[in-house]
Amino acid sequence: MNDRLVRLMDDVKARNPAQPEFHQAVEEVVDSLELVLDRRPEYRSQRILERIIEPERVILFRVPWVDDQGDVRINRGFRVEMNSAIGPYKGGLRFHPSVTLGILKFLAFEQVFKNALTTLPMGGGKGGSDFDPKGKSDGEVMRFCQSFMTELYRHIGPNTDVPAGDIGVGGREIGYLFGQYKRLANEFTGVLTGKGLNWGGSLIRPEATGCGTVYFAAEMLATRGDTLDGKTCLVSGSGNVAQFTAEKLLDLGGRVVTLSDSSGYIYDEAGVDREKLAFVMELKNHRRGRIEEYAQEYPDAAYTPVEDGADHNPLWNHAADCAFPSATQNEINEQDARNLVANGVQVVAEGANMPTVAGGVEVFLDAGILYGPGKAANAGGVAVSGLEMAQNSMRFSWSREEVDRRLHGIMKDIHATCVAVSDEFGTPGNYVNGANIGGFIKVADAMMDQGIV
Ligand code: GLU
Repeated sequence: MNDRLVRLMDDVKARNPAQPEFHQAVEEVVDSLELVLDRRPEYRSQRILERIIEPERVILFRVPWVDDQGDVRINRGFRVEMNSAIGPYKGGLRFHPSVTLGILKFLAFEQVFKNALTTLPMGGGKGGSDFDPKGKSDGEVMRFCQSFMTELYRHIGPNTDVPAGDIGVGGREIGYLFGQYKRLANEFTGVLTGKGLNWGGSLIRPEATGCGTVYFAAEMLATRGDTLDGKTCLVSGSGNVAQFTAEKLLDLGGRVVTLSDSSGYIYDEAGVDREKLAFVMELKNHRRGRIEEYAQEYPDAAYTPVEDGADHNPLWNHAADCAFPSATQNEINEQDARNLVANGVQVVAEGANMPTVAGGVEVFLDAGILYGPGKAANAGGVAVSGLEMAQNSMRFSWSREEVDRRLHGIMKDIHATCVAVSDEFGTPGNYVNGANIGGFIKVADAMMDQGIV
């Protein structure tokens, strides 16, 4: 990194203290941009980089609600409206106790580039709360969502900012949030995506992130004349992304041997087949139970609980061809990355956002494996959100085949952009540079056109 970019990073750290994930996300992009800034000096003079790392607006608010015991509970709500150069702010809401402003700024920053890569007109944003839906009743979740939306509704709109789901926010939460928005705004409109099918949702939206990640992995393998057929795959997580990653892998002949949640992971040598996957979906989406129950239902599978303070995650230490981290940020540390490479992994396709620490990314790039960073590999989710917005604007719904065809086409386009851009900038096969530079140029050019705003 040149002196100017080192100074920029020092400044980012000084101005945004205690936001290490945001620093990490910015540094990864800045690392890729040196060549672009040399070729396009106008980006420097117009301070595009300095502007793109500063959110256009951050909203922070109190979310009071009453639990089932009648006690008053207080959470913190956020919406980071990062960049609207190419469209309305777009990005999910995360409800998880780990949510802080720094986490949401990293996610919103990544979202800007990811959304640009989809080729659809969406800016970047992210929001959420430190509310933990785990163990809460439906009534408590509903009251929380209503209180959250009572403040958020004045800041969002179908042409302003369109939130969606992320960790802890699925169909149930989007329903409660939409109901309250409609009541307050007196307007039935596409202000959220991930809606139910009979009230404005899109077919394939639930499947889209996992399905898109697998399409992206297949594209990467195709560059080496290979396919997913017969490949052994490590998948982490057991939520929306992991479930549909596993489903699509089964469609394409892959063998999924792991799944996890925050308490531990299962290893199933025989593979998670369709019947076992249906059990996981019922367990996680309806009973809201723990993945440990998988090993009780299928005793041939081994369950390993999370070990606090461990230097590596054993999930990533099994022989496999492909890894699909689909849980959360920084779930693959440097040692995990080394273990994956040593165990023969050829493909890492990130369904989660920034699941690999910076040192781990280096390990993958140095090993020359096919490494698809989240902002490219998992863009299928927000891409189908963009298609949901398009269908809402038309007051029309496309068939399952139509949405899937468009999703597949978008994932192929994102892959092609990554390949073309990484070639053009002299780092062939480096999808990190391809995604960062490809997304950046589209947003930067729009910002140039729109003046100093
Ligand atoms: N939360 C998802 C993501 O990280 C989807 C966002 C959306 O659909 O707006 O991209």
